[in-house]
Amino acid sequence: MQETALKGRKFTGSARAPKTYSTSRTCASKGCDTRLSQYNKREHCFTHAPTRYPRLRGRIAKVDA
Ligand SMILES: [Zn+2]
Repeated sequence: MQETALKGRKFTGSARAPKTYSTSRTCASKGCDTRLSQYNKREHCFTHAPTRYPRLRGRIAKVDA
């Protein structure tokens, strides 16, 4: 069992320190008080995010003509 693998998150691609935003922002959606992370540059919480990326499981099956 490798405990080192469980230590912290793995950041890839950028060595820059994360940019911080306002510390007390909430979701821009009405009636939603979900607090946003200061590292989250979006204006909505995960639930109300305007852009959604559908998670496709596996590959899109090829259609055999
Ligand atoms: Zn929200």
